[in-house]
Amino acid sequence: MAQNSPQQNMASLRPPVIVIMGHIDHGKSTLLDYIRKSNIVEREAGGITQHVAAYEVKHAAADGTERRITFLDTPGHAAFSSIRERGGRIADIAVLVVSAEDGVKPQTLEALEVIKDEKLPFIVAINKIDKPAADIIRTKTSLAENGIYVEGFGGSVSCVQISAKTGEGVPDLLDMMLLTADLEDFRGDPSLPASGYVLESNLDPKKGLSATLIIKNGTLKGGQFVAAGSATAPVRIMEDFQGKPLKEATFSSPVRIIGWDKLPAVGEEFKVFETKNDALEFAAAFAEQSPTSNEPLPDPESGVTVIPVIVKGDTVGSLEAIQKELAKLSTERVAVRIVQSGIGTLSENDLRNAEGIKNTVIVSFNAKIDATARAYALRQGLEIHEFNIIYKLTEWMEDIVAERTPKVLTDVLAGEAKVLKIFSKTKDRQVVGCRVESGSLKNGATVKVMRRDAEIGEGRIRELQHNKNKTSEVTEGMEFGALVEFSIDLAPADRLQAFETVEK
Ligand code: GDP
Repeated sequence: MAQNSPQQNMASLRPPVIVIMGHIDHGKSTLLDYIRKSNIVEREAGGITQHVAAYEVKHAAADGTERRITFLDTPGHAAFSSIRERGGRIADIAVLVVSAEDGVKPQTLEALEVIKDEKLPFIVAINKIDKPAADIIRTKTSLAENGIYVEGFGGSVSCVQISAKTGEGVPDLLDMMLLTADLEDFRGDPSLPASGYVLESNLDPKKGLSATLIIKNGTLKGGQFVAAGSATAPVRIMEDFQGKPLKEATFSSPVRIIGWDKLPAVGEEFKVFETKNDALEFAAAFAEQSPTSNEPLPDPESGVTVIPVIVKGDTVGSLEAIQKELAKLSTERVAVRIVQSGIGTLSENDLRNAEGIKNTVIVSFNAKIDATARAYALRQGLEIHEFNIIYKLTEWMEDIVAERTPKVLTDVLAGEAKVLKIFSKTKDRQVVGCRVESGSLKNGATVKVMRRDAEIGEGRIRELQHNKNKTSEVTEGMEFGALVEFSIDLAPADRLQAFETVEK
């Protein structure tokens, strides 16, 4: 590297950052696992047991040279779309995994939308070709039917057939990633200060606040300071994705930095500073500009029922996704409000807060729960609800919203009849002939009497006859006779409207 001229430095090829997308169960995780297991050679004792936000592999290109590829390990479920969309922005190339058994599915198309929005070059990987029910032609047809035209099927989208389980075709897929990267000509300048994004941040019980960053350009060096949004950290404890200490890292590498003053938000861009003061100044300016995300509680007079939620999550990403999903559940009459949220273990302290707020829903999402917190909950009769899948949490929360929605009684129009003929009248009892215009009217019903567009009063149906027989109900289209108790003389073309009181 030392003999490189600055011009050559500026023109350094940058390893591609790959995001794997596609419908649930089509094999994204299996593919990521397979590549990780088969292409990471220098593994530490014990290997990678923990979830990592991104990892790097080495793959020999067609010309024999070893090249690096970085993979984002984004959670696959739809509720993580906020991260996935950011994954799209962070990534250089997308691999769209489509099962050869199922073809294109809703989330395949969702992923395609993200790919198009981000203008990401992409490769289609037709997966599960080892399965007896795999049908490659049908899968390619299904792709074409959905506007994805692969090579040989009316288009030029690269397509590789693989089995993420047996590994068949995976080296070809890696070759295709490098080929696509070469065509796109991704470049970086290692002489610049590093820049990139926060992939994940969490609380490490032993080490403190940690975040995984992906470097998209420049070089990150020990002794510098990083700021992401309003959070800062010294570049002192820096590790690669396998937990090995690093002194320096450059583009396309994921690095873990420990020792933040607060948790940086997932997807946030990071910047590098030479002094701690500069980093703190940047963070302070950022904090001033960004509005707080806490939604105000509705006015107690408004009649809106508030469902307060305390949620502890395992990562900033999952908390963000939960916030987004729960916000969608609020209705005109019910407001779902996260009153407290955090990362890490659910503690007795969190529950003490819950006690002060009536009917608080306490949720742990993949978070550990203190033994003392459990004991406290038992004593106080508080229930801690544990989830590890976001849509399960939202489904459950939907039920809570339905349960807590205050019931209101409303009158709905059950039926309307038009007066056709007046037969007789004694005192306020009138016998009329009518036709049901819509819905149905029941014997005994109270009716509003409408004359043109005005209500002229309220009456009551005392008897109903259809085809000269007494009946209890008449329905749309029927002509019927009725004995109506009403003080004003009815006239042809008046309308009788029957209402029903329902709970909503
Ligand atoms: P994801 O939801 O897209 O991450 O899908 P997963 O990787 O969890 O895969 C879903 C299921 O399909 C799992 O049971 C996998 O073992 C299985 N699977 C994934 N890829 C293959 C494959 O190439 N062949 C076979 N036979 N099974 C696969």
